[in-house]
Amino acid sequence: MGALPAIRYNHLMNYVHKDTCRICKGRDLTRILSLGNHPPVDNFTDVEHLKNEKRYPLNVYFCGTCNLVQLLDVVSEEELFHGEYAYFSSASKPLVEHFRSYADDLAREQLKDDDLVVDIGSNDGILLQHLAHRYRVLGIEPSANVAEAARKKGVETLDGFFTVDMAKKMVEKYGKAKVVAANNVFAHIDDLDEIVQGVKELLSEDGVFVSESHYLLDLIERREFDTVYHEHLCYYSVKPLQHLFKRFGMEVFDVGRVDVHGGSIRVYVRLASGKPLKNSVRVLCALEEKAGLYTLERFSGFQKDVEVIRDKLVSLIRGFRKEGKIVTAYGAPAKGNTLLNFCGFTPDDLKYVTDTTPHKIGLLTPGSHIPVVSPDILKSETPDYILLLAWNYRNFILEKEKELRSRGAKFIIPIPEVEIV
Ligand SMILES: [Zn+2]
Repeated sequence: MGALPAIRYNHLMNYVHKDTCRICKGRDLTRILSLGNHPPVDNFTDVEHLKNEKRYPLNVYFCGTCNLVQLLDVVSEEELFHGEYAYFSSASKPLVEHFRSYADDLAREQLKDDDLVVDIGSNDGILLQHLAHRYRVLGIEPSANVAEAARKKGVETLDGFFTVDMAKKMVEKYGKAKVVAANNVFAHIDDLDEIVQGVKELLSEDGVFVSESHYLLDLIERREFDTVYHEHLCYYSVKPLQHLFKRFGMEVFDVGRVDVHGGSIRVYVRLASGKPLKNSVRVLCALEEKAGLYTLERFSGFQKDVEVIRDKLVSLIRGFRKEGKIVTAYGAPAKGNTLLNFCGFTPDDLKYVTDTTPHKIGLLTPGSHIPVVSPDILKSETPDYILLLAWNYRNFILEKEKELRSRGAKFIIPIPEVEIV
């Protein structure tokens, strides 16, 4: 008998199901969460295109060898990003603040004048804009109009996806980098080996790779199941990252938790040096171990936890609708669509969702088909209840919408547990 094929292709459905772990290549993979079939979360649609909407399995797996939590159903990039979609990080005020302080940390801890800083997935220059006045900076951004926005801020930016080839060409032209950053991109990458190899090519001997990703410990403890969607292929903790970098002769030497995107982890990586690691690595690994993140058992109750949230939200919102209340939703972030689809909500449950993003207004949410409208509607209409899909900005939004709340609108917070405020 021949070896099993590594990948089961499904060309008709435009996705592949892998059966090996993205980090250790092992096959000890167990499904720990099943959210059903979902359309890609960024594929906002309109009535005309409803018949073209496709759904793909959204299941999360645990690797028994390196303990990476990951998706194995990989939807093609064409299918994930088929729209005219462009996400500008700087549209979010809390994110702008976050990256300002992140840049300060890098300048203080890692950089000297004239050092080169490279940011992979640099978006509109949200990080590099704070470093461009003092250091040599270079962004890499696949979305052309987003890259253009960065250039207008004085951040030199290359178009395209980062590869080993690109890294080699960059070294020839610009020299080695003291800092390579990659924020909220590492979770999106199917071929991690290509990226890590490229980073290694690019880093100077004493260089540092720094990366922020959504943190598995927050996801599990705060039941943030809606951050699971097809673009997010990996949900990181420290141990699998150590495993990944070790394969390339590199080491995670410092880590920290960051209060952004519902809880993130920042890791600092260098070429393997034999020098002592910062204490933070030992401390966070011990915390992860205590929380059970390295055992399959910890995840056995996660499906149930998530279903409890779903059942509460559904009975609450359908109950309000029976009483004739107006219920709407606030914010149409990517993750909101996982929640809406998992709950099976329709426009009968939620009259509309308000969002400030111009390209979403006038469209329907993928799968649930709820109209996206401008927040201006809230000036003339006061919903009785508003489901807060952008719950990670809870405090910011509750403060911003004081006037709306004083008119009697109440917010339903879905995560970490269902709450009305
Ligand atoms: Zn693995």
